[in-house]
Amino acid sequence: MYIGRFAPSPTGHLHFGSLLAALASYLDAKSNQGLWRLRIDDLDPPRELPGAANSIIDILIAYGLEWDKEVVYQSHNHSDYHKALLQLQQIQLAYPCNCSRKQITLRTNNHLYDRHCLTNPTDIVLDNPAATVWRFNTQNNSVNWQDGIQGEQHINGEQLADFILQRKDQLWAYQLAVSVDDQQMGITHIIRGNDLLGETANQLLLISVLNYQSIEFSHIPILSNLKGQKLSKQNLASPLTAKTVSQDLFLALTFLGQNPNKQLINANKHDILHEAVLNWDRNTVPQIYSNHYLG
Ligand code: GLU
Ligand code: ZN
Repeated sequence: MYIGRFAPSPTGHLHFGSLLAALASYLDAKSNQGLWRLRIDDLDPPRELPGAANSIIDILIAYGLEWDKEVVYQSHNHSDYHKALLQLQQIQLAYPCNCSRKQITLRTNNHLYDRHCLTNPTDIVLDNPAATVWRFNTQNNSVNWQDGIQGEQHINGEQLADFILQRKDQLWAYQLAVSVDDQQMGITHIIRGNDLLGETANQLLLISVLNYQSIEFSHIPILSNLKGQKLSKQNLASPLTAKTVSQDLFLALTFLGQNPNKQLINANKHDILHEAVLNWDRNTVPQIYSNHYLG
């Protein structure tokens, strides 16, 4: 059984780049007779834009991208994240850290954490949660996977740098929450932007130590690869409105290497999506976008 998902953070409105990720994951799921689920990653209230979750939902419906089952909200799942942290603490793969960003920078000349509190546990003061983060002990493991679009991937242990599981403000880190939720939702395939390649390495480590079901990852290129190349002229970074649904879907299919039939440009969204599911070929999604569509 194939179960895919789209998991936007309600920190802003959907833009054309989000449409590419939503559409690619939708088409891959539907062309495999799978389910496509929607999760609102509302994990970080200070960064959220009031009303964004509902506007995301409205826009997906306006583009004909209808999900299966109920919408999942990360803000309802805090107790599950807590359980996962306890599990990691029990197997000694989570450890507390009191280092400030400044201390880390002074020691390392960069922002990569140097595992100071793992190797100097006596420096840790646990009685002040507001000064403590919980980190995952990556054990310096490197991670390899075969990406469904980007091919063979390798991320080494130094780059992973014992990422944070729970922040000083007690908020849950994205990597932990997303791993727990994808497991609970039974997700088998993830297609998202390649700005998250590093997060995928972290997620794969968590999946492995928590004995979660494996997930096949694919990463589409993100539009910021085209920075400075007429992006603003096309307004591709501004919020999607439902005014040009068919044209936007057609352009998104073009970006995704699907070579849509020209006659579809003025078809209705359901016909465009129906054809797109029938013709979907993940192998023709480019690893980076060429700028000739924008010219
Ligand atoms: N919520 C994350 C974001 O919008 C993406 C989650 C994911 O696709 O794993 O950046
Ligand atoms: Zn530390």
